[in-house]
Amino acid sequence: MLKKLFQSFRPPVRGAHHKRTTPEVINSGQHSLQRGQFSRHAVSIVERLQNAGYQAYLVGGCVRDQLLGITPKDFDVATSATPEQVRAEFRNARIIGRRFKLVHIHFGREIIEVATFRANHPENEAAEDSHTSSRNESGRILRDNVYGTLEEDAQRRDFTINALYYDPVSERILDYANGVHDIRNRLIRLIGDPTQRYQEDPVRMLRAVRFAAKLNFGIEKHTVQPIRQLAPMLREIPAARLFEETLKLFLSGNAADTFEMLVDLQLFDPLFPASAEALEEHPTYTHTLISQALINTDLRIKQGKPVTPAFLFAALLWPALPGRALRLQSRGMPPIPAMNEAAHELISEQCQRIAIPKRFTLPIREIWDMQERLPRRSGKRAEVLLDNPRFRAGYDFLLLRESAGEETDGLGQWWTDYQDSNDSERRDMIRDLGSREDGTSAGPRKRKRSPSKRKRADGGAGE
Ligand code: ATP
Ligand code: MG
Repeated sequence: MLKKLFQSFRPPVRGAHHKRTTPEVINSGQHSLQRGQFSRHAVSIVERLQNAGYQAYLVGGCVRDQLLGITPKDFDVATSATPEQVRAEFRNARIIGRRFKLVHIHFGREIIEVATFRANHPENEAAEDSHTSSRNESGRILRDNVYGTLEEDAQRRDFTINALYYDPVSERILDYANGVHDIRNRLIRLIGDPTQRYQEDPVRMLRAVRFAAKLNFGIEKHTVQPIRQLAPMLREIPAARLFEETLKLFLSGNAADTFEMLVDLQLFDPLFPASAEALEEHPTYTHTLISQALINTDLRIKQGKPVTPAFLFAALLWPALPGRALRLQSRGMPPIPAMNEAAHELISEQCQRIAIPKRFTLPIREIWDMQERLPRRSGKRAEVLLDNPRFRAGYDFLLLRESAGEETDGLGQWWTDYQDSNDSERRDMIRDLGSREDGTSAGPRKRKRSPSKRKRADGGAGE
């Protein structure tokens, strides 16, 4: 109560972008949305809930994307009905989540998520009782499970463009946060005080970057301003959640832009500390290798080809590997065990920040191991390697390293030719290899001494 009163006396923050208690209503005809553009299942859920006497709207990403002419990934409904009340209305509804309940309504393969209006916890609750409080000392929200009004639901959302409610029955948009204005001006803007909103949930910093890259929007200056300073707060976020967020960041089809923004806003460091260090030590190489990997990923996504997170993480972490291996070598460890130990250490440290599941860490190791094996081609080795299920990823990774300027003695081209050759040509290639070098050398050390290096230096592709 007191808070409400206080709010209404508070002078408006930054002109038009103070909290509104009454929405701007945008009638049909004043906006581009049409009910027919939305999932008919989502629309029928809204109608059904409204007919049962509840408030119900399409909300969030689907309204935003539709206003921008982007096909939404999924359709979310927000309602005044509690999860139990929602379930009572639909046969195909299931309540999910323990701490915060949501309802999933199934229509064949389509799932519509229905969420009850939620409110943010009052800010002063933390001070009163630290044991039952919903926030920690730095203001981070630990629980987020209080139902609220429509207006409160709008205020607890992250960005203005994500807080638009569309009623497919009246075809009106309710805008509590000037989201339509920001969509027109292509701006990512947090609702409320940015520092406080990031302190409540530091992942919002990553979401700002994700939406800016996905939508090709700018980040409004007050929204961007606190990020560099607050970026270290991401270290407190559970590693499992950061894994999910990282995948969304890098598998969105705009990973290359996302990476630039993360580095610029110092968000890359808390996510990938070892890679950030490599970026400082070897900026050109590290930057080129990671960007190139992400450009390739974006391209594959645009072409509808599958992408594996393992390849992505293998590339993101690779630049941090040589430094570590060398450090171990300087303590007397032979090169190959040093490389393996460095790989092991690097991955387990990374998993403290971002919980990469086993099903991905294993292939990361295999892609890296392949880098040691690809130079060793003599006898039957090349043939055997080609049949390895990880060959393709290993070979692509080799090309990636070369494109970042790594000296590999034309190894990528050799493997390209080998794959393009018939059996007898392949035999010749191996024989040729044997006459020039033994083809078994594991690392660059041996090959550096090889006379073939000089011979090939002028004929090489010179990437
Ligand atoms: P996408 O197209 O990536 O799914 P989205 O906007 O639907 O984008 P979701 O992560 O699916 O994003 O979240 C749905 C909605 O929930 C958002 O639009 C936003 O209103 C709200 N939301 C999600 N995460 C947060 C958060 N961390 N803080 C505040 N609000 C959030
Ligand atoms: Mg969504």
